[in-house]
Amino acid sequence: MAKEKITLIGAGLAGPLMATYLAKRDFTVDIFERHPDMRKVSQSAGRSINLALSVRGIHALKEVGLYEKIAPMTIPMKGRRIHDLNGGTHLQPYGQKKEEVIYSVSRAQLNMDLMSLAEETGNVRIHFNHKLITANLDGNELKFQHKADKLKSYYFTRVVGCDGSSSVLREAIVYKTGAKYEKKPLGHGYKELVIPPSKTGQFLLDSKALHIWPRGQYMLIALPNMDKSFTCTLFFPLRGKTSFETVKSDNEIMDLFNNQFPDVIELIPSLINDFQKNTMGNLASVYCDPWHFADKAALLGDAAHAVVPFFGQGMNASFQDCSVLNTLIEKHKGDWESIFKAYSFTQIPNGHAIADMAIENYYEMRDHVNDPEFIKRRKLELELEKLFPDQFIPRYSMVSFHQFPYAEVYKKGEKQFKIIEEVLKVDPSGETIDKSLVSQLMAE
Ligand code: FAD
Repeated sequence: MAKEKITLIGAGLAGPLMATYLAKRDFTVDIFERHPDMRKVSQSAGRSINLALSVRGIHALKEVGLYEKIAPMTIPMKGRRIHDLNGGTHLQPYGQKKEEVIYSVSRAQLNMDLMSLAEETGNVRIHFNHKLITANLDGNELKFQHKADKLKSYYFTRVVGCDGSSSVLREAIVYKTGAKYEKKPLGHGYKELVIPPSKTGQFLLDSKALHIWPRGQYMLIALPNMDKSFTCTLFFPLRGKTSFETVKSDNEIMDLFNNQFPDVIELIPSLINDFQKNTMGNLASVYCDPWHFADKAALLGDAAHAVVPFFGQGMNASFQDCSVLNTLIEKHKGDWESIFKAYSFTQIPNGHAIADMAIENYYEMRDHVNDPEFIKRRKLELELEKLFPDQFIPRYSMVSFHQFPYAEVYKKGEKQFKIIEEVLKVDPSGETIDKSLVSQLMAE
């Protein structure tokens, strides 16, 4: 019997992972990717050189059998190292258990390994240099631009859009279903800069942390790479008094760094060159509902729910989509309308919740992490976790070290916020905790 064929658009992070899940179920998979094969043609990794991988992503990589290969190429980060304006630093641990760390991983390496793993199944073919231009969901027809050729038609039975935040397949689903759809720009963009290794080939900063230089309306962060360099990302307003619009000339760049990030200047010898040469990325959140059309088409990853990168969850959420879809394929055996419907139903609230939490985390990272009030509340959260393990798990931990659905995390986080308010009403210093009050509030 001929194997059923599934078409995927996009061979970024989510596409090849989903293809591997499908191939292991004996589907044949065609992936169409607009770019050339990054394993053969050197090209920039696209957005962000490295990424934070955490439990949701790790779970999916383990399910397809890739984690063992990836693990030696990851760098554990125990917490946020905060850099003050005067050069002082302190570490804010992400969790309180040894295993509560997140991992820095190279986007390009992970992407290449995911593509190779998919192809090794023998059931997946990746068609590079094929850019989806239009999708006709009634006629099951996709039109691709292949190099300079005329548009090429391809007919599908079922298609999944893993084509990122500007998804063409999403446009077709929105058009066909009248989906509720919004792409919300953050008003901030980003630029990547590199801290190279020292002359003796060592890391120039603590390699076990994600570094943050919080500066109110903007921030700089840095994640370690395997070659002992760090990739820094400046998140900065697009417009306004201090923004990408006003910091353009060499002098303006130097003024910004001299005034706001003086300790970084000597770490980035090619600061001006990097700043001038590297492209500026834009940030936006995508909200869409539904994520599917009938039994024919669905969206996953950024195509369904692009989120801003401040919770380090976009890829992790996308990998979780693949795992959830795989479970539903098992459950609803061949009934694709039910598979896609259940997938939309379970995952949309989670996609929206992580999009909202990621925006909230931007304000926390750039504005509050160095604030004594934030530090007091964070300490209190960790104390409450010690007193009520399994019942009071701080929101960051629920997102990064557990797999509770994001929508559930959001609700629990709101409740925790209220509990902390009540505890602080009794003792504003946060030094003592009324345990019976907390038990009572948690039971409500
Ligand atoms: P993508 O990885 O964007 O892949 C989409 C693929 O589709 C691409 O290969 C693209 O070329 C292809 N494509 C697009 N359009 C077409 C078309 N018309 N035809 C054919 N192919 C097409 N997430 C984390 O979990 N942790 C982090 O630390 C983190 N850091 C980030 C930092 C930054 C600065 C940014 C911008 C994002 C970060 N993310 C992070 C989010 C993460 O990058 C995304 O969530 C993830 O890449 C989503 O995977 P995807 O496969 O859905 O989309």
